[in-house]
Amino acid sequence: MSVNFAALLFLVSAVLFILALRGLSHPSTSRKGNIYGMVGMAIAIGTTLLLAQPGFSALVFIVLALAIGGGIGAYIARTIPMTAMPQLVAGFHSLVGLAAVLVAAAALYSPESFNIGVPDDIHLRALIELAIGAAIGAITFTGSIIAFLKLDGRMSGKPIMLPGRHAINIALLVALVVFVVSLSATASPIHFWLIVIIALVLGVLIIVPIGGADMPVVVSMLNSYSGWAAAGIGFTLGNMALIVTGALVGSSGAILSYIMCKGMNRSFISVILGGFGGETASSGGGDQVERNVKTGSADDAAFLMENASKVIIVPGYGMAVAQAQHALRELADLLKEKGVEVKYAIHPVAGRMPGHMNVLLAEANVPYDEVFELEDINSEFAQADVAYVIGANDVTNPAARDDKTSPIYGMPILDVDKAKTCLFVKRSLGSGYAGIDNELFYKDGTMMLLGDAKKMTEDIVKAMD
Ligand code: NDP
Repeated sequence: MSVNFAALLFLVSAVLFILALRGLSHPSTSRKGNIYGMVGMAIAIGTTLLLAQPGFSALVFIVLALAIGGGIGAYIARTIPMTAMPQLVAGFHSLVGLAAVLVAAAALYSPESFNIGVPDDIHLRALIELAIGAAIGAITFTGSIIAFLKLDGRMSGKPIMLPGRHAINIALLVALVVFVVSLSATASPIHFWLIVIIALVLGVLIIVPIGGADMPVVVSMLNSYSGWAAAGIGFTLGNMALIVTGALVGSSGAILSYIMCKGMNRSFISVILGGFGGETASSGGGDQVERNVKTGSADDAAFLMENASKVIIVPGYGMAVAQAQHALRELADLLKEKGVEVKYAIHPVAGRMPGHMNVLLAEANVPYDEVFELEDINSEFAQADVAYVIGANDVTNPAARDDKTSPIYGMPILDVDKAKTCLFVKRSLGSGYAGIDNELFYKDGTMMLLGDAKKMTEDIVKAMD
């Protein structure tokens, strides 16, 4: 295959990746977006194979690797519960980082296979590329592993603050730059491995201080890093499709991080450097047992909702755990039949991954025009008779609005306390992901519906019937 024709095919796959990103930006077009992405990837892999023309034994290895990797991927995709998706994504990011380090090492030890020179005389440009690619890859690798452990609950989600961490991070960053420069000058494998070790440590140190409600930004940030790591591999391998794909993932991840930070009212730099969120329990923690809480039953909730003229539903992580979206849709349909106006309010970090709630509501065929983002619906809670909070917690916590000492202070919340009655479905008075008590449980206008989100919603539907 001619190089020009290959470049054209790579361009086609790059356009398909852009269309995929565009499609994935809305639930109604996301299936189409996925298909564009798959076709683009098939074209990119096919073109790379035709261009490289590997020998028979290499081809056997490639097919074997594709079959094993694809098989594992297909198995995981079929078996993974939706609630474990965020840690799965973090786990996958770590593999991209590891791949970048391994490709860079292979290029350093066998430069002739990559057409970048011979062991004692590697092209300067290639050395710079592989040094940077390995550094970003190693940071992504350990950072993603820490994110995986935190999201999977195998490590405390609370920030771990090392004394003098900023000074340590800056010192490591300076050392990293020094070794990247010296590797470029000497091509010394020792310098290469020092870069990798420093970057591995930096990956851990950057992520451990981030916790609680700030984890969504970490996930999208690592997504961005993994994209840049892939672009680094693309440069080392001289593969245009990989450079373009990596850059697309890197920049879209960076934009998503920015959107997340905006949604959380955080500065991106302070999230990375500061590591706040979930550090301390807010005031009022620990004494909830003695405090007055108004609890209600499914019958009470059914009565209140049937007699409302406007109900706003606020889904959160608990809805995902309980898989209550179908029961919720049934409840909403019933209310609409009874002439009640029903809307859904989505917080940008509700659930455990960007768009988590939108995906679940789309799965239950909730009409898109009933689903609203925080900034579009927040002012409507004051006119609502009922806010039905189903498995959400942190995203409604007024501490973010009122308590300057709270670690989540400044994060915009859904103003469910402004509705006439706030029905709160969860199993206990425990805290959410950020580990902060929610004052809302004890307010006059709140009625706690303690129980599993799906069971409670089904019981309300039965009570209405
Ligand atoms: P929260 O984690 O704040 O609260 C979820 C609540 O659901 C819990 O308090 C829990 O209470 C309840 N719950 C769990 N299982 C059930 C069940 N079966 N039935 C009923 N209730 C249940 O969720 P939110 O969606 O409000 O907030 C998301 C949090 O996750 C934020 O802090 C966000 O920063 C963080 N996060 C978000 C990510 C994202 O990308 N969206 C990624 C990583 C973290 P109980 O145990 O009492 O039932």
